[in-house]
Amino acid sequence: MQKIRVGIGYDVHRLAENRKLILGGVEIPYHLGLFGHSDADVLTHAIVDAILGAAALGDIGTHFPDTDARYKGMDSFVFLRDTALKVKECGYQIENIDSTVIAQRPKLAPYISQMRQRLAETLEITIGQVNVKATTAEELGVVGEGKAIVAHATVCLSQR
Ligand SMILES: [Zn+2]
Repeated sequence: MQKIRVGIGYDVHRLAENRKLILGGVEIPYHLGLFGHSDADVLTHAIVDAILGAAALGDIGTHFPDTDARYKGMDSFVFLRDTALKVKECGYQIENIDSTVIAQRPKLAPYISQMRQRLAETLEITIGQVNVKATTAEELGVVGEGKAIVAHATVCLSQR
């Protein structure tokens, strides 16, 4: 019988000046970017955590600590690729990913298909296995004030 495992991931980063805005591996033109030790790709971080969670392999902070100078300014797709390899080595394959990005600004709809494409290519799965949704925070809280972006992800893995 095929074994199915699910995982969840959550991340938040604040928006700051002089930073690039990278979501799901796609650079989005905006006057602010996400602040963090790596490139602060909040969507990719949530997906990495969901994949690690489904495989019971801990979390992104344990595997890629933000105290490690090697990861400063790092492309989060390096974490994604590495995580995909780790779960593969444990005998898992990714069945599907669903995710939600919560951002008041900018409008993310024009970039969603590119994010799905990049994520799918890197994880060596089809675009039909990766979903990205975008919503606003209805101007409520820090996200609604445009000070931060949040991402949630769920992942389903199967064991061969
Ligand atoms: Zn993060």
